[in-house]
Order: sequence, then structure tokens, then C-alpha cells
Amino acid sequence: MYTVPNLDYTYDALEPYISSAIMELHHDKHHQTYVEKLNAALEDFPEWQSLPIEQLLSHIDELPKEIRQAVRNNGGGHYNHSLFWKVLSPNGGGEPGGALGEAIIAKYGSFADFTEAFNTAALGLFGSGWVWLTADLEIVASPNQDSPIIDGGDTPLMGLDVWEHAYYLDYKNHRDEYVNAWWHVVNWAFVSSRYDR
Ligand code: MN
Repeated sequence: MYTVPNLDYTYDALEPYISSAIMELHHDKHHQTYVEKLNAALEDFPEWQSLPIEQLLSHIDELPKEIRQAVRNNGGGHYNHSLFWKVLSPNGGGEPGGALGEAIIAKYGSFADFTEAFNTAALGLFGSGWVWLTADLEIVASPNQDSPIIDGGDTPLMGLDVWEHAYYLDYKNHRDEYVNAWWHVVNWAFVSSRYDR
């Protein structure tokens, strides 16, 4: 059985950038629902239940056809949100240092140019989805609960949830305000540690 991981901080720890109300709803209801539906989809397929979620998603084409879409949607939701909670921190924001900081500047020219490219991808994504920074420092947008790993692609270092459920309570339809606020709570220590690995 898959389970929702606990947060490393309290619901209100990310205020004023992300409210306690959003965090509670997003973590306890939305993520919980993905996990419940993932477990329900795999109920009759015990041979798949014990795999790490990354492996389920990166072998999605080998899953029985009748559960493939449910695992893609809900397993994707579980993987994406589990990463998302770790990418957030009340001590976040600023710019990454170390190897990641240098590599971002080498690739994008400056940290500001990088965030501008990332924001453009986030605002340009139609409907619900995610924007990722992959291990080779590409910015990738995915629809729904997809991610680069579902196509056998690169492991994401971080992801930004741009589903309306992630921001509507705080920012209504203003995705740009949410995205700008989100940079203040990005846990660069965590993202950098993934890059270093
Ligand atoms: Mn979400």
C-alpha cells in the first residue's frame, strides 16, 4: 500500500506565500485521494504493489492495460506531490549555490534568466500540469500528473504544481502571482542535493 508522506513542516510554515488552508487541502485531500485511487487500481495486481512509485511510472507500458491510465494519473499524482512537498521549505528561497547554482548560470546566463524561462513555461502551460527542472537542467512542462520519468526521461530535480488546486484559494486565477510567490519557498538545499547525486 502506498501512503502519503508526512510534511517536514507545519501547514502554516509557508505563509504568506502558500497558506495553511491550501497546504492542508492539498496534502490531506488531494494527495490522499491520488494515493487511495492508486491503491484501489492495484488491488487485484499484488505483483505491482510493492514497487517504488518511480519504478511503476517508468515501466508504465508494462502494466496491465486496464490499470495503466489509473496508475499514470494517480501514481503520477503520488510521485509528483511527494517530491513537491520536499521542494518546499519555510527556509527556502534565494538562489542555489554550489554546483547547481554554477550549472544553472552556465546554461541560462543568470539565475534571473533561468527563473524567467521557468515562469514562461509555467504560465504557458494550458490547463493543469507541472513544470520541471530535470537533472540535465532542462525545463519541461507536463500535462495532468505526467512527469519526465513517465516517458523514460530524466529524473526531475524539482517540480512546480500549476494545477488550480495548488493556488486557487490564495491567488484565484492569478497563476503568475502564485508562481512568483513559490520561488520564496523553494528548498534549494534539497534540490541541490538531488543534483549532486
Ligand atoms: Mn497538486
